[in-house]
Amino acid sequence: MNATVWRASIFVLLLVLLVLAEWRWPRHQADPDRRHRWPVNLGFGLAGALCLRLLMPWLAIDAALWARQNDVGLLHAWTVPSWLAVVVTLLALDLLIYAQHRLMHRVGWLWRLHRLHHSDLALDASSGVRFHPLEILFSMGLKIATVVVLGAAPAAVLAFEILLNGFAMFTHANLALPPRLDRILRWMVVTPDMHRIHHSVLRDEHDRNFGFNASWWDRLFGSYREAPRQPQATLRLGLDRFRDSREQRFDQLLLQPFRREKTSRQ
Ligand SMILES: [Zn+2]
Repeated sequence: MNATVWRASIFVLLLVLLVLAEWRWPRHQADPDRRHRWPVNLGFGLAGALCLRLLMPWLAIDAALWARQNDVGLLHAWTVPSWLAVVVTLLALDLLIYAQHRLMHRVGWLWRLHRLHHSDLALDASSGVRFHPLEILFSMGLKIATVVVLGAAPAAVLAFEILLNGFAMFTHANLALPPRLDRILRWMVVTPDMHRIHHSVLRDEHDRNFGFNASWWDRLFGSYREAPRQPQATLRLGLDRFRDSREQRFDQLLLQPFRREKTSRQ
């Protein structure tokens, strides 16, 4: 089996497990409206994967293999032991994704690409693949640049991509973890309750908890929020200006970044 088949299999398996868990232990009470949301969210997941395949001649893993073959990048120049190269690669890529996410919320044109993700009116595992293809391409460009500068370890790059994908589905899942488990996990990784705050309709809540995998970047850089004002179960999700059914159509969402705005940050 090649890497694509492996990754697709892991994705489907995790999705099935999370859907079962969401059905058994739901956290949020809103109607998940799967009939309308799932084709759109999975459609964006597919569109992003296709765009990467068709439009990017190089992916982060190809860049890592090239850097190793040609001895390019800091980790090769310093000849660090391979276990350290793996750790540094994982940390660097996770920090990059955190920084990119903060930037997406700060810079007007990047927010236009990112807000489609925030306009989802409910949250579940499918929200973890709801990104605009342009955001996916932008993110891959940044990852490639980082991988080349760093001379990142190829195995760690592949592991990171799988982790990122898996955590994106887990942290968006409508899943009630036992409070004690949530508290313990949160010292290391982002949990569904932690990330749900990031999808609050209120800006001072959705400008918090930017991490994707590790939770410590938010604590370290002062963007951590422990709890929302409203209870988790009834937290109002999404964005105020994208609530009607027309705004939630695939074609409208695809064109959303190019729409004329009165203000850039809504
Ligand atoms: Zn966000």
